[in-house]
Amino acid sequence: MAEAGKNNKILIIEDEEAIADLEKDYLELSGFEVHIENRGDTGLQEALNGDYNLIILDLMLPGTDGFEVCRKIREKKDMPILMVSAKKDDIDKIRGLGLGADDYMTKPFSPSELVARVKAHLSRYERLVGSAKEANEIIEIRGLKIDKTARRVWVNGEEKNLTTKEFDLLTFLAEHPNHVYSKDELFRQVWNMDSVGDIATVTVHIKKIREKIEFDTSKPQYIETIWGVGYRFKM
Ligand code: CA
Repeated sequence: MAEAGKNNKILIIEDEEAIADLEKDYLELSGFEVHIENRGDTGLQEALNGDYNLIILDLMLPGTDGFEVCRKIREKKDMPILMVSAKKDDIDKIRGLGLGADDYMTKPFSPSELVARVKAHLSRYERLVGSAKEANEIIEIRGLKIDKTARRVWVNGEEKNLTTKEFDLLTFLAEHPNHVYSKDELFRQVWNMDSVGDIATVTVHIKKIREKIEFDTSKPQYIETIWGVGYRFKM
């Protein structure tokens, strides 16, 4: 059973109302929250604007066909897409086009088969996203290692003690390497909007971070000053 409120929002884009309703009933019985759109164009908008965990997409739709809807969703979003079609030939076409659909079903299919596939794809995606998240908790760049979960920093294996804001600032820059940020931007990103202080705080913190992580603060290896603009983390 899907846990309520978590990873359970499904969008059905299907113009045959009887089929859409049947799919919806079975999915709701399994604990999913389901929304139906009957047109390709409105379905696409809903997919892009909404917060769905999986999409069941019919191929032949009024407005915009399923091929186009699938392609457009894939440009913007990363969630499982199950394509359904009345024609076996279409399935081969979907595969051939490499649209990024995760699965294909030919109508008519049994609703319980659909529910089983939905569950399988959701748990597979959850595992993928989960492992990607875990990997992202550690940032390693040229001898500098940041453990975001433990909030610890090492340089060439030697641990450095950073204050909370020093850690936040360094991590923010390291997560966006080569991107130049102004002091204003960094202040807004790292300090709360309502905190007392000004952009000089950023300069002070950068100086302190450098003293802790740089071998030679006059020739910084990690955080580079871009004169007249701000700072960037060198990749
Ligand atoms: Ca249709």
